[in-house]
Amino acid sequence: MFKIGDLTVGGRQKVMIAGPCAIEGREQLLQIAREVKAQGAQILRGGAYKPRTSPYSFQGLGPQGLFYLKEAREETGLLTVTEVMEPEELDLICKYTDILQVGARNMFNYPLLKRIGRTDKPVLLKRSFMATVEEFLLASEYILKEGNQRVILCERGIRTFDHITRNTLDLASVPILKKMSSLPVFVDPSHGTGRSDIVIPMALAGLIASADGIMVEVHPNPKKALSDGLQTLDFPHFRELMEEFRSLSRYIEAQEERRSNYVSRREAVPSQEAAS
Ligand code: PEP
Ligand code: MN
Repeated sequence: MFKIGDLTVGGRQKVMIAGPCAIEGREQLLQIAREVKAQGAQILRGGAYKPRTSPYSFQGLGPQGLFYLKEAREETGLLTVTEVMEPEELDLICKYTDILQVGARNMFNYPLLKRIGRTDKPVLLKRSFMATVEEFLLASEYILKEGNQRVILCERGIRTFDHITRNTLDLASVPILKKMSSLPVFVDPSHGTGRSDIVIPMALAGLIASADGIMVEVHPNPKKALSDGLQTLDFPHFRELMEEFRSLSRYIEAQEERRSNYVSRREAVPSQEAAS
């Protein structure tokens, strides 16, 4: 558990990160930022540097995108997260965002992880689609070892034989990661499934599997999105997700409260017996 600004990550309160896959323009980002803020998300996501599978696809707005991200942050008060692909971009990105994202494709980029480990920015580290849980945890240790302790692990699906979803969202990894490390664990059902029609149930399943937060892609018109439109929620569906997210979070928080009371009562009993 740690703080990012005023926000506690990995505590009782569940966290929502939402925003477009890519920052496409000033108006697009501000419109999304206002909407996700109004619905209760705490962190705005948006890529300025995009690791696209095809070099012919939209690669992101670069520094211009970072300016828009900072503007959205100043207007809404949301924290922001954006992806770093190269060490050379790191100093500039650090000036414009609260959290650094390491994408699935760079989880094995050890020089980048070490360099990020020497910054004081919290990191959202995504699991590579070909990484075992052990490799994922060792990647996080490259950052921790350099002194940066604020790392969030993000399960975002792995590559399997089944292509009915873009990736196979490995929800079993969530409680396992929580057992094997003390870092907060998030779930990204957008990349984890590649299908907007099942993002909501898989986000909720992530919470049930004990995730500390969820990250989803949101766009006013996913069909026109310059990247990852098929897995992106429109505003009405994001609102629906947030309603469910809030009520499920409340239920989980109350259950954790009951469980901790139960544990402390049980601990109290033997000492009372010993006293009598
Ligand atoms: C993203 O978050 O937009 C992204 C590219 O994710 P991943 O690295 O998990 O593919
Ligand atoms: Mn994306």
